[in-house]
Amino acid sequence: MKYDYLIVGCGLFGATFAEQMMKNGKSVLMIDKRPHIGGNVYTESTEGINVHKYGAHIFHTSNEAVWNYIRQFATFNHYVNRPKVNYKGKYYSFPINLMTLYQMWGVTTPAEAEAKLASVRVPIEHPQNLEEWILSQVGEEIYETFIKGYTTKQWGRQPSELPTFIIRRLPIRLTFDDNYFNDPYQGIPIGGYTPIIEAMTKGADIHLGVDFFADQAAWEAKADKVVFTGKIDEYYDYRFGELEYRTLRFDTKVLDMPDYQGNAVINYTDEDTPYTRILEHKHFEFEQGPKTVVTWEYPDAWDRSKVPYYPVNDKRNMELYHQYDALKVDSAHVIFGGRLAEYRYYDMHQVIASALATAQKEFNS
Ligand code: UDP
Repeated sequence: MKYDYLIVGCGLFGATFAEQMMKNGKSVLMIDKRPHIGGNVYTESTEGINVHKYGAHIFHTSNEAVWNYIRQFATFNHYVNRPKVNYKGKYYSFPINLMTLYQMWGVTTPAEAEAKLASVRVPIEHPQNLEEWILSQVGEEIYETFIKGYTTKQWGRQPSELPTFIIRRLPIRLTFDDNYFNDPYQGIPIGGYTPIIEAMTKGADIHLGVDFFADQAAWEAKADKVVFTGKIDEYYDYRFGELEYRTLRFDTKVLDMPDYQGNAVINYTDEDTPYTRILEHKHFEFEQGPKTVVTWEYPDAWDRSKVPYYPVNDKRNMELYHQYDALKVDSAHVIFGGRLAEYRYYDMHQVIASALATAQKEFNS
């Protein structure tokens, strides 16, 4: 039997696309090189705590259709992301808000905060990079305390070499609102993300621990169409060269104490601390048990043996990506989607929106 679709990659894009297709009577074969489904949203229970194995995944969106879609597969709790910053041992409210500015400068009202910011902003009319943009918004001292070290560690390059969109994700507020996101919908799925992916892919034939490229022709022959969610440069055999990524390394420990740090996420923003954040997973779901699971997150240089997490969307890589992107028209039987195939710094809600739109296009074709 020939399947309607072969989906390469069991992450959020593949699972959403699979769900849409199966709901419309199509048959789906899915493969993934990892031994589990879910891609980087995969969660696993340890000591009764759902551990985000590939880093913190906090669901947030302004897209009501996406919010309604994902809630078919899980109940979401009322978690709101309010990370704290530790800079050289001192704690700060984050993202930058009136409490942060009070802690920095003692300003207590929005008007005082605005006056202080106006006096420290570096006048840069057309900021060309992350460093220029943040300096033009908040000046040197805040840049140094919250952004410079963290960003340098996270991306392995100077903030002056990075695009502004990376930092424009973060709000800067002159109120006491310390919600990390501006979106109206936010939460953590009770029970973790893995059951969501299981529900979405129910009915698909799934093969895990499989290397698509080791037997590409045989896999592709099994279906009328292919959905590829892996690295776009790998699909085209790196013919123009290799796209760059940042990877992450996680050091996770079970600690015999009820609470290690009192919050799900604490960022370490100085350059000398090698990790960028410490996650304490039980706080995502308000777990109360006697033990806790804590993860130290270290950004790292990427090579092909490591998991690609973040596309590095600088000029060189984007030019290279566009060369690969131009090849897609010649691969009419293949649909490309997700963070790796589109080389985009997608959040979860954007991946779902993109997969739903791709499925819709497929129905209309
Ligand atoms: N960032 C920073 N200091 C922080 C947190 C974030 O400078 O304490 C910058 C950093 O460049 C990071 C970007 O903001 O890559 C986006 O952060 P976000 O938390 O959205 O990244 P993610 O959770 O996707 O890793």
